[in-house]
Amino acid sequence: MQIADRCVVTFAYTLRDAAGAVLDQADAAEPFTYLHGRNSIVPGLERGLAGQAPGARCKVTVTPQDGYGMRDEKLVQVVAREQFDTETPLAVGMQFHTRDEGGAVHMVAITAITEAGVTIDANHPLAGQTLNFDVEILDVRQATAEELAHGHAHGPGAHHH
Ligand code: ZN
Repeated sequence: MQIADRCVVTFAYTLRDAAGAVLDQADAAEPFTYLHGRNSIVPGLERGLAGQAPGARCKVTVTPQDGYGMRDEKLVQVVAREQFDTETPLAVGMQFHTRDEGGAVHMVAITAITEAGVTIDANHPLAGQTLNFDVEILDVRQATAEELAHGHAHGPGAHHH
């Protein structure tokens, strides 16, 4: 069957950035499974996979707007070292969760440490990037009633509960 809304899709992929560096991958032994049509994956990839069938191999290029969004420099801040209540020495590349005034949780990463303070960046690590996916569709099946009610796929490569 072809990929459409209410389908559960299993696929293997390699994700490369514009320069060809591998950012992420899932091979056929440990593929990724999702419920199509529920924004489980970035919009550009979901659109690119629609209509594909098992066995298909395709390349999908996703612009930042259809991927993880554009970078927002307002999400980059310099804060004082003293604000970090941690026993672990701070290092560039460390990631941690913060809570904003509205209570939403964000993942932020330390991108620089200088005399002036610690630079933290709350943009998604892939924001602003063009994403090049090489995809192999492994399986397409009808979602179960339970999966549709939950809004996500169940089983290997998806939710377990
Ligand atoms: Zn569930």
